[in-house]
Amino acid sequence: MTEPGIDDLPIREELRGTSPYGAPQLDVPVRLNTNENPYPLPEPLVERIAERVTEAARTLNRYPDRDAVELRTALAGYLTRTTGYEIATAQVWAANGSNEVLQQLLQTFAGPGRLAIGFEPSYSMHGLIARGTGTGWISGPRHEDFTIDVAAARRAVAEHRPDVVFITSPNNPTGTAVDAETVVELYDAAQAAKPSLVVVDEAYVEFSHRPSLLPLLAGRPHLVISRTMSKAFGAAGLRLGYLAAHPAVVDAVQLVRLPYHLSAVTQATALAALEHTDTLLGYVEQLKGERDRLVAELRATGYEVTDSDANFVQFGRFTGAGGAHAAWQRILDRGVLVRDNGVPGWLRVTAGTPEENDAFLDAVRALKKEQS
Ligand code: PMP
Repeated sequence: MTEPGIDDLPIREELRGTSPYGAPQLDVPVRLNTNENPYPLPEPLVERIAERVTEAARTLNRYPDRDAVELRTALAGYLTRTTGYEIATAQVWAANGSNEVLQQLLQTFAGPGRLAIGFEPSYSMHGLIARGTGTGWISGPRHEDFTIDVAAARRAVAEHRPDVVFITSPNNPTGTAVDAETVVELYDAAQAAKPSLVVVDEAYVEFSHRPSLLPLLAGRPHLVISRTMSKAFGAAGLRLGYLAAHPAVVDAVQLVRLPYHLSAVTQATALAALEHTDTLLGYVEQLKGERDRLVAELRATGYEVTDSDANFVQFGRFTGAGGAHAAWQRILDRGVLVRDNGVPGWLRVTAGTPEENDAFLDAVRALKKEQS
């Protein structure tokens, strides 16, 4: 008897033939493909995590603080301090990565018979979390330069009347920041069509040249700002994402969150990292400089580059034989792993350490020579 495969199992029909999300985890010298922070956590922070986790371990026989109040208070303090806009603990919710935050939002505000819209190319997990929660997905338009086509976006919102609107700023994979007027226009259009939730995914905002869109929360009870400690805090392995919104939105997501979803170890580790915010934001400043250097050097080498407000850069265009994927392979052959997000003609590189970026720049300069 042969063992059953996925297709032999009674899985949901809409999952048949699909594949799990994930970039290749290849063992190569320079990995610049998943928008991670290249700097390991500083040693004093590692020690503080050990202390905090040791303390938490003494009460691991008990469930953790279900409402993660100390952590949400520290996150509210971080948002208030870095944006100048006052955020209260009751406006913050945290979960295991911002992916879980987004999933909880769709479980609460979308789901079967409801629709979500995003403006693509964008973070593909928005559509995949929609699928996973049984939510219909609408792919909204962008201009050629990857900014949101506001007029077309407004028309799409009026036509489809989505329950959830995703705006990613800075956008992944393009690096494009969204201005406040665009968010306000889309928020108003979405409220006129239906009282829907507008989620601004600010996973990369600490790397932006522009300020956070967080102050737009004032007077907009259906607006959500989603954030993560995976990028700016250099803690992708921690799995800690959070949102800021009207307290009623925070109350609403409690309806779907699993009890004790955020482990005591996660809460202790995140609190330790927040104690070291200033050091970690120092690394962000270095990475912003490296990001700007990548943009300038790629342009000087003759590549097209999309303006970037994130810790990564979209570059191209690869129009020759094999397109972007062939170029991705040629760069990999030189020991540097970048990301092929499936945007025709374009690849994405994450800003690494100066040495990693030099290795990447050597590889793409060689590629340019080969192709000219
Ligand atoms: N939003 C965007 C735009 C992202 O690019 C990512 C990570 N690639 C996430 C959210 C999810 O991050 P995490 O779950 O690690 O918080």
